[in-house]
Order: sequence, then structure tokens, then C-alpha cells
Amino acid sequence: MSTIRFQALQSVLGRTIPEVKAPSSKISDFYGANVFDKVKMKDYMSKEAFQAILSAGVSGTPIEREIAEHIASAMKSWAMSKGVTHYTHWFQPLTGTTAEKHDSFFEPDSNGVAVEKFSGDALVQQEPDASSFPNGGIRSTFEARGYTAWDPSSPAFIFGKTLCIPTVFVSYTGEALDYKAPLLKALSVLDKAAVDVCHYFDKGISKVNASLGIEQEYFLVDLALFNARPDMLLTGRALFGHSSAKNQQLEDHYFGSIPERVVAYMQDFETEALLLGIPLKTRHNEVAPSQFECAPIYEEINLAIDHNQLLMDLMDKIAKRHHFKVLLHEKPYAGVNGSGKHNNWSLITDTGKNLLAPGKTPKNNLMFLTFFVNTVKAVHEHADLLRASIASVNNDHRLGANEAPPAIISIFLGSQLNDVLDEIETSRISKKAKEENTMWHSIPKIPSILLDNTDRNRTSPFAFTGNKFELRAVGSSSNSSNPMTVLNMIMADQLIKFKADVDKLIKKGDKKDVALLTVIKKYIKESKNIRFEGNGYSDEWAEEAEKRGLANIKTTPKALDALITDKSVKLFQDTGVFSVREAHARHEILLEDYYKKLQIEARVIGELVTNVVIPAAIKYQTSMIENVKGLKDIGLGEDAYDAQMMIIKQISEHVNFIKKNVVAMVDERKLANVLEDSREKAITYDEKVKSYFEPIRYHVDKLELLVDDNIWPLPKFRELLFIK
Ligand code: ADP
Ligand code: MG
Repeated sequence: MSTIRFQALQSVLGRTIPEVKAPSSKISDFYGANVFDKVKMKDYMSKEAFQAILSAGVSGTPIEREIAEHIASAMKSWAMSKGVTHYTHWFQPLTGTTAEKHDSFFEPDSNGVAVEKFSGDALVQQEPDASSFPNGGIRSTFEARGYTAWDPSSPAFIFGKTLCIPTVFVSYTGEALDYKAPLLKALSVLDKAAVDVCHYFDKGISKVNASLGIEQEYFLVDLALFNARPDMLLTGRALFGHSSAKNQQLEDHYFGSIPERVVAYMQDFETEALLLGIPLKTRHNEVAPSQFECAPIYEEINLAIDHNQLLMDLMDKIAKRHHFKVLLHEKPYAGVNGSGKHNNWSLITDTGKNLLAPGKTPKNNLMFLTFFVNTVKAVHEHADLLRASIASVNNDHRLGANEAPPAIISIFLGSQLNDVLDEIETSRISKKAKEENTMWHSIPKIPSILLDNTDRNRTSPFAFTGNKFELRAVGSSSNSSNPMTVLNMIMADQLIKFKADVDKLIKKGDKKDVALLTVIKKYIKESKNIRFEGNGYSDEWAEEAEKRGLANIKTTPKALDALITDKSVKLFQDTGVFSVREAHARHEILLEDYYKKLQIEARVIGELVTNVVIPAAIKYQTSMIENVKGLKDIGLGEDAYDAQMMIIKQISEHVNFIKKNVVAMVDERKLANVLEDSREKAITYDEKVKSYFEPIRYHVDKLELLVDDNIWPLPKFRELLFIK
């Protein structure tokens, strides 16, 4: 009983639940206490500075140096009043996590006397040595300068004893090196394009914000058990492990009562999140054992994504207090569901109107249909880019595995709206209509409450859910900026084209509403292919999709091709979201990320097999051999040790298979490693190296079933999944 597995099991038995206390039982008493929000800004700043921040946030108006000085000093006073000693520019490099470099407020003045300082310059811009962040060849180390620049649309916050300032991260030559910069660009073109289209209906609208609510799935595992699994420690997922006899088949975990120890953890990170102004609202068990979900109320998209990044960080940190490890990996355990991050998205005007909510009057409905049909058309036009935006080595395990949407991008509208679109498609628009009223007959009635709200087709990657679209294929650990930059960019581009098409008809003499409806009708026809109401998990859909000409790209390296097609590059340039250089750099970074992660997994498999699995199997086999020898010695015949002989042989077979295949895998890895071209390398890793993972695992898992439980060194799935 000396293995680390049993020590870990021992520690789990001794766990006590830490006491968690919220600052008050009323959330409104402490919500946002650690955020430099509008109320605090007003308290600490002059009116002028406050206005400057507001308009910088709303319309990107640059902030003058003098004002920045004042804002910095206000931020410092507020932060110091809360015991803060350091500040950092907080940014989202392409590693997928968040980054920070802390500087102290403390500075000696010219007389050597210590003062606390935070200048306008330090607020607005910093130059972290950025040479070791992924840059896809944009920066070589000799020009390692990249800089972070303040994003005034996302408020500063306090984390621990540090004032964090949300920033973008760009290279010295101006290329984006992070997730936030392109997102902000996409949101800005979308705002303009959407406002222009809104003006057909309502001249009073001057801003359109995208909104986002992110549902976050995750697993929890006891920290000691996690640490006893080197594969989980290094890759975030269990590379081996036989399924537990009981898994999720009884469906007894979903929405069940939450274990006490987990509730304490949830309360703890929720409190911290609420202090940071993250509006967490729901928590529940998910489908797999030890899988959970939390979701905030939706917010403006840039803020929602900052908050999700912060939340993931928070969940990880707080978990340690509770001796848990939070697993954000898309597929930590084979055989049970993986985790995703549903992105609920809609467009909301400064007049408070949700452009994706059906209205009561025909005119309102035409406005709704305009944005609704343009979304469908945008996704139809650039489905490949949306697919690429959710591609990662981890997400490859989920997409198409009958637990998450397939790799085929399609849209679920619900039967009512599907019928509405069909009706418009076949209707005749009377162009001669003198009275606008006759035109309205072409628009079917749309009930303002859609029955299909409740009909959640979980198998669709992109589903309309009443007043928003829900992108369901996003991976649980990913930064939502990636898919959201794409979605908002393709929507912006689509709306610009829509306006051009409508204006052309108006110029030719069509009435505005007739022109709008004519273009909508045309788009409905053109984008029909991508609409699918059926079961996305079924084989029939894969066949049908192929007939329709929809792509079904199952692996990341090929899905990423969409980033550098002529069509995509033109879109990037038209919208200004990425330069050609940036597009190629991102492609390169994502390919590198893909093969590097597979390389790590392959190495861990090799090591664990050689140093942990095979020794345990041989140890057990040796004890069997001793036993057989003993039985022979006391004069018993073959039938006395039949079973033992069988086990001895089986162990040899498995060990041989595993050893041979690990050697072959390492050989393939060596061949892959010398390849120069990243795409070729990634594909080789996928097709030649990764293809060994499953067969090796199969035999390791068979050994797990054979070998004496007392000497099996790795915590088993039943322990990882059920002990809490
Ligand atoms: P579920 O899909 O789990 O039943 P909800 O429909 O309540 O949950 O919403 C899930 C997420 O969608 C929440 O974060 C919620 O705030 C968000 N959401 C609701 N309305 C919108 C909207 N108009 N735009 C963006 N997100 C929204
Ligand atoms: Mg949902």
C-alpha cells in the first residue's frame, strides 16, 4: 500500500470542508467592490476625466495625456485605499491564458525617499519583454519589443494585492499579439455596420453592442488524486484509464443535488467573482460525474470575455483552497462527456432593443428578420472560418463525438422560424404596392414568444434560442475571443453587403421595405443549405451534409486552412480585423500549439508506460510466476494453476504490444520533429503519431483490469470521478 495512489486516497478521506464566508448575505452589498467602476470613478475623478473615460469606452475617443495622468492618480488612490501595493497590465496573449507582470507603486524620488507613484504613462502603455510569447514569426527576439495598451472599455480591477489594467498586446510594428485587439476591431466594424442597417428602421439608434453570456463547464477532482496522475498534471487529461463500471449511464448526476464539498467551492469562487463584478448567476451539475457548470448574466462582449478569462483563473486559484483541481480541459476523461463553453450571442442597441428578439408589429419583425437572416447568411458564407475558430487539439476530442456538435457547421432555427423563412422564400413580393400595408402581407406573423425556446436541439453547433444565437461548439478551456472575433467580423461584413444590396434596389426605385424584403428573400434562398433541424449526431446528417456540400473537417490542422484562404484574407482586409501578416502568424501559432501539445502527450505516454505501467504489470506477473512455481513444488498439477498461467500470458501479450508500439510511436515522432513546415508537421503528428495513442491505451487499460488493485499505481477512473 505504498504507492502514491493509496497515499492520495488516504488524504482524500481526511478532507474537511473549509469554511466559506461571503462579505454579506446580500450580494448587492459587495458586488463589484474590487472594480474601479463608474460609481468609484465619479468619486475619485474630476468630471472631465470621468467623461473622457466614458467616451473612450463608448466611441474610442483617445484620452489626452494630462487626463490620463489624472485617471492614473485616481486609480492609485482608490487601489491604495484597499491595501493594494502593485499594478499590472493584464492581457491575453495567444497562449490561451492571461498574462501579467507586476510592478510596485513604490519608487524612490530624487532624494531617495520612497513614494507611491502611478503615472499616466504607466497606465496607458507598457513594454513587457514579450519575446517568449507566441508570435508566429512576427517578432524575432532581436526586436522583442511588444507593448500593452490600456483598454478603457474594460474597467480596472483588484486581484489579490494588485491593480489590474485590462490591455491589448501588440508588436512594436503594430500587429496584434493577443486575442483582445482583433476582437475590439471586429466589434467596432460591427457597430458601424449594424447602426447603418438599423437606420432603415430607426434613426435614433447610434450604437450597437454585441452581447455575450458564456456558460462554463468544468470538472473537479481531488488535488491529491490529480497530483498522483502525471498525465493529468502535464496535459490536463487522463491519457490512460479504464472506464469506471459506473459512469454517466444512469444519468443520475445531471442537475442532481450538488455535493457539499463542491458547494463550498462554488460559493467561494462565486463570492470572489462577484467582488470582481462578474455577474455569476447559475450553478448546477452537468452530465458526467464530477462535471459542473456555471454561467453569468450576459454582458457587453469584450467585458464578458475578460470576465470569463478572469473567472477561469479564479476557479483554478480558489480550487487549491479546497484541495480540488479544476479541469477546464475539453476532454479530461474518455468515455464520459467532455466540457464546452456555450457562447450566447446577440446584438443590442443603445436604445435597449435586442435586434435578435422578434417584435410585435410587422415593422419590428422586418427589423428582426433583417438581423436574423443576415446572421444565417454570414455563417453560411464563412462557416469554414467559424469552424477554424473553435479548432484545437483538445476540442478535436469533443466535436463529432456524440456529446458535442459535429464538426459540420449548421444552424438550428426551430420549426416556427424555419417555417417563417420558408414562407418568405416562396412568397411573392408585390413591388407595385402603393400602400405599404400590402407589402406586409409578405411577412408571415412571428409570435413574440417562440415555442422553440424550450426545444433545445443540443446537437446543433449554432442554434437560435429565442432571442439570441448560441454557439455550442466552443471548447471549455478556450478564449471565446477567437470565435467571437470571427462571428462579429463576418456579421459586420454581411451587414455592409446587405446595405449595399438594399441601397441598390432603392436607387432603382423600389420602396425601402420592398427592397429590404427582396434582399432578405434572396439571402434566405442562398443560405438555405446551412439550416438543419434534425439530429446533428446522426450518421444520416453527415451524409446529407456532404450532399449539400457542407464541410466536415474533423481535425484541427486542416480546419485551420480556412485562416489563410483568399476569401478569408479578403474578408480580414475588408473589415480591417487582421492584416495578411497577422492572419499568417495566427495560422502558424495555432499549428504550433497543435503539434506541441501532441508532442507532450506522446512523451508522457512513453514515459508512463515505461516507468509506471509496465513495471507494475511485471511486478504482478512475477508474483504470479512465484505462485505457480510454489504450486508445482507442492506437487499440484497444471489444473491448479491454469488461471495464473493465463494471466501470466495475457500480461506478456499486453506488455509486448505496448512496448513495441511505444517504440514505433517514438520513431514516428522523430520523423515528424524534423519537418520544417508547420502544417505538414501538425498533420503528421495527427496522422502518424496520435494514431498510436488509442491502441496503446487499449492495452494499458486491459492491464489495469488484470493487475492486482493493490499495486496499480495510477488513480482509477472510479476514484477520480466519484470520490469527492
Ligand atoms: P440555458 O441556455 O442554460 O438554459 P439561458 O437561456 O438562461 O440558459 O442563458 C444562458 C446564457 O445566455 C446566460 O449567460 C444568459 O445571460 C445569456 N443570455 C440571455 N439572453 C442573452 C442575450 N440577449 N444575449 C446574450 N446572451 C444572453
Ligand atoms: Mg444554453
